[in-house]
Amino acid sequence: MQPSDYISLAEQAGFVKIACLKPPRLADGYLSSHLDNWLRSNAGALSYIDSKRDILVAPFAQRPWAKSLIIASFLPERDNSPLLQLPRAHDGRPFAEIAPYALDRDYHETGREKLKRLEELLFQQFGPAQTELGVDSEPVLEKPLAQIAGIGSRALNSLIYDDCYACGINLAILFTEHDLPTRILDAPLECPHCGKCLQACPTKAFGDAEGFQVRRCRAWLSGEYRKPLTWEEQILLGPTLYGCGKCTNSCPKTNYVKPLAVDAEDFLRMPSAAITRLIKGTALDHTGTTVLKRNAAAAIGQQLPPDIRNARKQELLALCASPTVRQTIEAWREGCAPARPMVSG
Ligand code: SF4
Ligand code: SF4
Repeated sequence: MQPSDYISLAEQAGFVKIACLKPPRLADGYLSSHLDNWLRSNAGALSYIDSKRDILVAPFAQRPWAKSLIIASFLPERDNSPLLQLPRAHDGRPFAEIAPYALDRDYHETGREKLKRLEELLFQQFGPAQTELGVDSEPVLEKPLAQIAGIGSRALNSLIYDDCYACGINLAILFTEHDLPTRILDAPLECPHCGKCLQACPTKAFGDAEGFQVRRCRAWLSGEYRKPLTWEEQILLGPTLYGCGKCTNSCPKTNYVKPLAVDAEDFLRMPSAAITRLIKGTALDHTGTTVLKRNAAAAIGQQLPPDIRNARKQELLALCASPTVRQTIEAWREGCAPARPMVSG
């Protein structure tokens, strides 16, 4: 069997770069040193990482049936997103932004569709076998695996840098019982460390000796962190409804798209059932309506002038039943000047 036998199948399924790793290639301790470095600054931020160390650092040892790991990149798919129906921002009123990538089709879904297609083609070509598919959904360190496989290099902003698409690629993995030949791509161009992503990051979540600090990242704070926000956390979150992506968008080869600016108060006033319907099938679905409303409340609190902020507090509290949203509004700091002007874009 030749690598070309499965490469053509993966290309038919819609993947761009395709590699295949085998157990011996992962035995050099790179995954455990990568994980230890990450945990030094970020332990506790993503519980599924802390609790899955064994399987993350030795993916084949914990899947004794698997003989090969296909790791492949794929591109985002633009879509007429239902999020475009959300109330748009107006100058002079608090706004909150949705990251451009959230307007694409949810990459978990598009990647999974491609993986299912690849699985079907592999079965047709080589016979049925046990498999495990994942797009940011399984306990797998996709990014260091992509580096080992030559899919991309490590960018300054900790994402994977691709020669052609910069930080704009997604990754998918497929473990299989099939004994496929190894394929490691030529070392890709290194991210040129031009520093534009660092300049664009509003919270300086990376770039110092401690490496990437996920708790400073607006994408994590807006989507993964589920608790009520303190005033300091609200300032860190800024005018963010979901995601961020400013470090990705500032990268020179990335196809820049503006974030979607939503009217934060109109969003907070929307019935939760209507929001739940609108975000279904988008990346925001994973975060859920309560956390999105919490983020909208934080955007309002930090943009209103102090006298208006204090006057509006009780009115907005009366609108909100969720303890997460209410505690976020209650944490608004009195007398503090607005953190940002009420203009969008
Ligand atoms: S903006 Fe510059 S430093 Fe940052 S990932 Fe892109 S090329 Fe690398
Ligand atoms: S997503 Fe935003 S906050 Fe997070 S590292 Fe990138 S620019 Fe910074």
